[in-house]
Amino acid sequence: MEKIPSFSKNHDELSVGLHECGTANGVTTWDLRFKKPNAGDYLSPKALHTVEHLLATVLRNSEEKDNIVYFGPMGCRTGFYLLTVNLDYGKTLELLKKSFALSLSFKEVPGSKREECGNCAEHDLDGALCECEKYLEILEKL
Ligand SMILES: [Zn+2]
Repeated sequence: MEKIPSFSKNHDELSVGLHECGTANGVTTWDLRFKKPNAGDYLSPKALHTVEHLLATVLRNSEEKDNIVYFGPMGCRTGFYLLTVNLDYGKTLELLKKSFALSLSFKEVPGSKREECGNCAEHDLDGALCECEKYLEILEKL
């Protein structure tokens, strides 16, 4: 099988931040890198899951909700993928700064009732908020 584009980039040269991966069929993929790859520091599975719930909720309630295609975690637990339409780098960065700031105000995990989530016991709000705060600091420096 052919090596797919996301495995073709050198992960040793990938830094934390916001990276544009490309656009296909009108959909742009953004790499929200929270952690430097293979550096020993990863999001915990619980925090990863909770960040997914927080940001999916905030992004899909934002002024750009019609331009959000997907938000979800990387299996390697070093970040997330955001798929959008009609958003350039500047707009995406501003949207993410607002969204991560807003996520810090949550007092409970949205969509975490048993009937709403496939693994409702696997959440860590405090851990997720800590990761969101750290990533917001990264975004503020871009
Ligand atoms: Zn869930």
